[in-house]
Amino acid sequence: MSEPALVIIKPDGISKQLVGSILTKFGHTGLEMVGIHITKTSRDIAREHYKHLGDKPFFDQIVAYLAGEYHRVHKLIAVVYYGRDAIKKCRAVAGATNPEEAAPQSVRGAYGRIRTDGLYENVVHVSSTPEEAEREIKLWFDPDELVLEFYPTKIITIQKQKKKVWA
Ligand code: ADP
Repeated sequence: MSEPALVIIKPDGISKQLVGSILTKFGHTGLEMVGIHITKTSRDIAREHYKHLGDKPFFDQIVAYLAGEYHRVHKLIAVVYYGRDAIKKCRAVAGATNPEEAAPQSVRGAYGRIRTDGLYENVVHVSSTPEEAEREIKLWFDPDELVLEFYPTKIITIQKQKKKVWA
């Protein structure tokens, strides 16, 4: 079944100038890229992104990591791919969560590392389920930033300007 998947190139991927190499690896899936942008990140949005992991001992670390505090790069690149089994295909390109266990040709296997403080610096995030993809895509993108509409939208008026938002 065709579905969208969110990929995030985390601040370490930007800091190491790996954006082109990473997008090339995801491009080999043959999936359609339907949205891409570079965006500022912060602890607030990182906390929201990882809110389902709030009870994990490494929660504060991954929030600081996604917020760019380890790399002094307070931005990330968010990409939406669309196509058959997009989540499975993108997760295969990313590789296992632990970069030491990831296949060497995967993004995390090739470019990831474990810091001495235990953080998995694993370069990319990929949605894990269709429900997570929906939550994450709505968090990182406005409807008009995507060239396909997968989720319902509505029009609101702010200071006499019409704007499309997630319904
Ligand atoms: P994934 O990103 O593979 O879907 P999770 O959503 O479970 O994995 O974890 C989110 C992020 O938290 C990971 O990408 C990684 O950066 C970090 N992380 C996960 N598990 C650990 C762990 N055991 N120790 C340190 N960091 C971890």
